[in-house]
Amino acid sequence: MATFQMLSKVGEDIQHWSHPQHSLNLVFAQSLYTCSGCKEYGAGLRYRCNRCNFHMHEFCAKAPSTAIHPYHTQHQLFFHNKPGGLKKSKCGVCGKATNGSAFCCPTCSFCIHPCCLQLPPELTMKEHPQHSLKLASASPLPNNSPYTCNACNKIGTSWVYYCAPCKFYLHALCAKGVINGFQAQGINAPPKKGKVARATRYASQVVRIFVDGVLVGLGEGVLDVINS
Ligand SMILES: [Zn+2]
Ligand SMILES: [Zn+2]
Ligand SMILES: [Zn+2]
Ligand SMILES: [Zn+2]
Ligand SMILES: [Zn+2]
Ligand SMILES: [Zn+2]
Repeated sequence: MATFQMLSKVGEDIQHWSHPQHSLNLVFAQSLYTCSGCKEYGAGLRYRCNRCNFHMHEFCAKAPSTAIHPYHTQHQLFFHNKPGGLKKSKCGVCGKATNGSAFCCPTCSFCIHPCCLQLPPELTMKEHPQHSLKLASASPLPNNSPYTCNACNKIGTSWVYYCAPCKFYLHALCAKGVINGFQAQGINAPPKKGKVARATRYASQVVRIFVDGVLVGLGEGVLDVINS
């Protein structure tokens, strides 16, 4: 599978080519961050510059220059720091724009977020703990008819994690929380665009997390989000 070798330890310092002026320190914090590499959200473990507002997913900091995706085995994917000419491209798995670094196939213009490259062929989700879910690149229903995602209740026709006997479906997009740390940190969904929506969502997030009795560090991130 396309998971990268990660043998780093919390507290470890690295030098990263994208931020040559300071070293980055691997830290654990529950707060939400935007990865300075892929521009996607993350929570939990991250490489952080202690002097700048610079955060990076561990797998982005350690991204190899080439990778193979199990559903795109015909060509190698190449790591692009900033997609530049491929800027308008969408991730071939989650369907969202690739605004930062991504893995791309120059032949097919298939691009994928570093997070999405980590989505495994099988996954166990807390929403459906009894069976593992299988990844498919298209709806597994007869005639490729749309499925309804059990997380967001919207329909989908492409990349999905599913359990056929239970008719349980989850957009690959909605499974990203397993990879980016949201699931482990109890964050339900990425913030919506627009400050009001973000502030409201995160205000309720604080309450929820506090009720769960695990309020550590999120407050700091909340203020960052609201003030940004
Ligand atoms: Zn990243
Ligand atoms: Zn710095
Ligand atoms: Zn993606
Ligand atoms: Zn290709
Ligand atoms: Zn969904
Ligand atoms: Zn099931």
